[in-house]
Amino acid sequence: MRVRDLGEFPLIDRLAARLGPYGKDVVVGLGDDTAVIRKSEDRLYLVTCDIQVAGVHFLPEAVTPRRLGRRIAAINLSDIGAMGGEPRHFLISLAVPPDTEAAFLDDLYRGLVETAGRFGADVVGGNVSRHDALVIDAFLLGEVEAGREVLRSGARPGDLVMVTGRLGASRAGLALLLGEADGGPAVPGDVRERVLAAHQEPEPRVREGRVISRLGGATAMIDLSDGLASDVGHICDASGVGVLLREEALPVDEDTLAVAALVEAATAARKEAAGPSGRADGHMDAARAQAVRWALTGGEDYELCFTAAPRAAERLAAEVEAVTGTPVTVIGEVLPPEGGRWLVRADGRRVPLEAAGWDHLRTEEA
Ligand SMILES: [Mg+2]
Repeated sequence: MRVRDLGEFPLIDRLAARLGPYGKDVVVGLGDDTAVIRKSEDRLYLVTCDIQVAGVHFLPEAVTPRRLGRRIAAINLSDIGAMGGEPRHFLISLAVPPDTEAAFLDDLYRGLVETAGRFGADVVGGNVSRHDALVIDAFLLGEVEAGREVLRSGARPGDLVMVTGRLGASRAGLALLLGEADGGPAVPGDVRERVLAAHQEPEPRVREGRVISRLGGATAMIDLSDGLASDVGHICDASGVGVLLREEALPVDEDTLAVAALVEAATAARKEAAGPSGRADGHMDAARAQAVRWALTGGEDYELCFTAAPRAAERLAAEVEAVTGTPVTVIGEVLPPEGGRWLVRADGRRVPLEAAGWDHLRTEEA
C-alpha cells in the first residue's frame, strides 16, 4: 500500500496505531488541535507542529516571504488558540534549496517573529538542512491552566455551534491566486487585498480562544483548517455526537461573495467563448452557492468553531465580541449521535454535511 492510495486521514490513523500507551503526564495525545501534557498540578503544556511545503501548502512565487513567515506563525498560534491556551515558544526547522536568496529567509523570519511576538511567543531555536523544495516546519509550545483546556471531545446534544469571524474568505483569496477569476471583470483592488490577506496571513484567534477558555462553558473547540464541514466532523467524532448546521447562518462576508460572483462571471465568459451557454441569468445564485461551498469546504479560514449550552453560548459570544471585537455567529446545534450530520439549505432541504460541498455542484449541473 502506497501513501498516495491511503489518503491523509487513514495515514494518520495508521501511524496513530503505533503510538502509546502514553506516559502518565500525557493528558491528551494525538487527536486534538494540540497534545496536552501535564506541567504541574495546575498547569498544562500544549504542543503542536505544522509543516509547510513549497508547491503543496504555498506558492513561493505568489507570496512575499514576510507574509509567509506570518502565515506559518499564525497557523500554529491558531492551534494553541483552539485549546484556549497561551502560546510561548517556537522552534523552526528549515529545509532550503541552496540557491535561495538569504534575504528571502531574513524576511521570512521577520514575519515569523513579528506575528509570534504579537501573541506573546518567542522563536527560540531550530535547525536548517538542504533540500530541493523549501520546507518550513514550526513547533510551538503553549500553556493553559489545568481545567481550562477546551478539547474537541466535550460537545453535548443541545449545545449550540458557533464560529468566530467569517468563513470562505481564505478560499476566495486562493481562487484569485489560482486565476479562477481570470478572463472576467476586474477584481477591485481593495477586495483582492483583503481576501489575499485572509488566505496568506490569517489572524490567529488566540485572544478569542483565551476569552472562551477563561469564561468557561465551552464544551468543545477546534480551529478551522480543513474546512467547516470537515472540522465540525472532527468535533462530532471526538464527542460522539451529531450536528445540524444552517446554511443561512454561515457568516460569509461581502468580499467573499464579490469574489465568488467574479469567478462565476469569468466561468460564464469562458463558457460563452466556447459556445452559447443557454443561460445568461442565475449568476448571483451561483455566486452565493460558490461562496457557501467555500465556507463549508474551502478550508484555511483559521477561525474558531466551538460549542456550548445555549445560555453559556450567549454569554461567550457577547464576551468574545466585547473583549476582542471579533463577531461570533451561531451556525447550528449539536444533535444526539443517532441524529446524524446535516446541513439545512437556504430552501429548507436537509443534506448530509459530508456531501454539502458537492451537492451544490450537482444542483448546478442538473
Ligand atoms: Mg487545528
